[in-house]
Amino acid sequence: MKVKKKILLLASLIIILLPFFCYALNIREEIKERKIPTYLIENNSYISLRSLLKILGAEDSWGRVEDRIFIKHQDIEIKFKINSTQVFLDKKVEYLGVPVKEVEGDVLIPVDDFNNILSGFVAAPRVSKEPSFKEETVITKDKNRSFIILIDPGHGGKDDGAVGYYGLKEKSVNLDIAKRMKEYLNKELRRNTKVGIYMTREEDIDVSLMERVQMAKDIKADVFFSIHTNSSRDRRPDADGFETYYSGVKEDLVFLPSSPEKEVLDEGTEGDSSLLKILDDLNTTSAVDESRILADFVQERLAERLLTPDRGTKRRGFYVLRYTPMPAILTEIGFICNPNVEWNLKDAEVRQAIAEALAKGLLDYLKFRDVI
Ligand SMILES: [Zn+2]
Repeated sequence: MKVKKKILLLASLIIILLPFFCYALNIREEIKERKIPTYLIENNSYISLRSLLKILGAEDSWGRVEDRIFIKHQDIEIKFKINSTQVFLDKKVEYLGVPVKEVEGDVLIPVDDFNNILSGFVAAPRVSKEPSFKEETVITKDKNRSFIILIDPGHGGKDDGAVGYYGLKEKSVNLDIAKRMKEYLNKELRRNTKVGIYMTREEDIDVSLMERVQMAKDIKADVFFSIHTNSSRDRRPDADGFETYYSGVKEDLVFLPSSPEKEVLDEGTEGDSSLLKILDDLNTTSAVDESRILADFVQERLAERLLTPDRGTKRRGFYVLRYTPMPAILTEIGFICNPNVEWNLKDAEVRQAIAEALAKGLLDYLKFRDVI
């Protein structure tokens, strides 16, 4: 009897402890498995706070007060401060070799130090906690569709983008036009099984610029098409017209630099030199040329349809254009800071017309390149 009891006890112990051995948190492993971007700063590798929360499955149980971050995980409160090397696990203090950093609004977590401190924790399941766009695109990606178009409605979630005099938000205009464009393309291409159309967001949610670029790379998009609504710097009510951008420079980096809050990275702005840059073997010149050709087609179709001034195609190193290795454009369909334009943009028919003009420009390009 005694032996039996001992065996039972041992067996239950193993069962209880097994998950801890199997799932003990290994941040390095999670980075690899989840393809999380890392940053190299003075030879230390970092991940964003957002990625750490994803790994822990703590996206909904954290907070920030000024430079202090709180994460509640497995009933333990993890606390740390930007530029500090102290990490509190409830009341117990641990020390990092290098401090937590903040670069351009992104809180960066030193990987090795956190790996040691959090090794007693358990990682969140890998699939179910991935962002929704990854499930939608990677999992349901149709293998027969060999030509992939990724439509990117600018802004979303907490980021309204530009807001007009009457309160119309850029994020909603962009999303509505993007949806209409996708629908129109699907209708026009219904006999074509080759082209697949995806969106970086289908709802009013936050998607960082880095995630947008990463998604374009993950699904191996052939065209990246970003839709925005303009606002002049001082919100001049007489600002008017539409324009389409492409980047004169393409950088294919394994580790993307942290993204700015807005698409303001000017042409010629160098990325953080401390980031590990892997020289690309892509023919970036052709991606630049192709972007320009696509921008011309789109701009031409917009000019056909809109009565507002044609401001032409322009080169500018917006984040989403510069770091996407494929042909990529960003179109500004009109100035929302102009109350007349804003009023028009509230009209579903106007949005439909713009969406169709954008789609036609893209279709012109696909025909030009013998894709369809
Ligand atoms: Zn915008």
